[in-house]
Amino acid sequence: MTELSATISSGDKAQTVLSSGKSYRKLAMPDLQWTPALEREMRPLYEKLANVIPSVEWPFHAPYIKAINDLKKERNAVILAHNYMTPEIFHGVADFMGDSLQLAQQAARVEADVIIQCGVHFMAETSKLLSPQKTVLIPDMDAGCSLASSITGADLRAMRAAYPGVPVVSYVNTSADVKAETDICCTSSNAVQVVESLGTDRVIFVPDEYLASYVQSQTDVQLIVWKGHCEVHERFTGEELRAYREADPSVKIIAHPECPPDVLAEADFTGSTAKMIDWVKTNEPPRVVMVTECSMADNVAAETPNVNFVRPCNLCPYMKRISLPKILDSLLEMKDEVVIDPMIAEKARRSVERMINLKS
Ligand code: SF4
Repeated sequence: MTELSATISSGDKAQTVLSSGKSYRKLAMPDLQWTPALEREMRPLYEKLANVIPSVEWPFHAPYIKAINDLKKERNAVILAHNYMTPEIFHGVADFMGDSLQLAQQAARVEADVIIQCGVHFMAETSKLLSPQKTVLIPDMDAGCSLASSITGADLRAMRAAYPGVPVVSYVNTSADVKAETDICCTSSNAVQVVESLGTDRVIFVPDEYLASYVQSQTDVQLIVWKGHCEVHERFTGEELRAYREADPSVKIIAHPECPPDVLAEADFTGSTAKMIDWVKTNEPPRVVMVTECSMADNVAAETPNVNFVRPCNLCPYMKRISLPKILDSLLEMKDEVVIDPMIAEKARRSVERMINLKS
């Protein structure tokens, strides 16, 4: 998807004009000094984050957090942050946090004119699909996803041609092009329910091979799968988890269903990021191995001080492209705008809305 914007000046009032035709006043760079007054103002937030953000880093983060929160009001903007964002983003500037579906649903509900999506590109696209009238910005247009880029709309059309009449379920971790070729989307929370809702013996299920394998273990519907992988979750192994359990038999292992089957076989609980968070908050086990992206364990740790997290850490390089300086830049310059071809958007929106409208 392309981003087209231009800057025009009239007297001293520079404006950024987006491809949607909306224009926004350019804002001046705020003061980013670390002062004693700012230290006092931001102290309550730091106390919450002290166990996940080193004190030497705080004087760098705090001025950005303050500046971003001030600028959001000027822009009538909200920040949606995925669970994999770093703690200074997740707890410092986000208005809404969650998994990709929760964020997209929130995008549709909020009154704000501008949405800054702190996550990867397919998430920003999903927000735009559900909020076509709002300006959706992503702080780094190159924040992609190995899973989403494993399949294209053309790949899926070829698959449909090979299995005529078989309905298609796509994980939300896909581009709008793929969603446009899809009958109904799913998330890792509702994938089994979505597959069974179609009432068929067979379903094309793309793009995550491991999520498909997990779903297949829960249903009699035969899945025809695509062999896409999340490069973060596929790196975990059952062997490393067995080592954690041998070192401490009381440890609880919770894993995301994008992990390989030998990892899920070791897990005490398997669920989406939102369900993993609920599980930890509800059960508060003394020690948890959280088998997913590193920052999520940090974000949950900040809210559950009684739980000791073992972090078999795999960072998502795409999620980590989003930073406080880039978010500030987005707000100042109104970039990068997420734009979807209207023909594709209309079809893609249907597949997402069909999932949302599914009764649970
Ligand atoms: S964690 Fe995996 S699925 Fe999520 S954005 Fe990164 S590569 Fe994609």
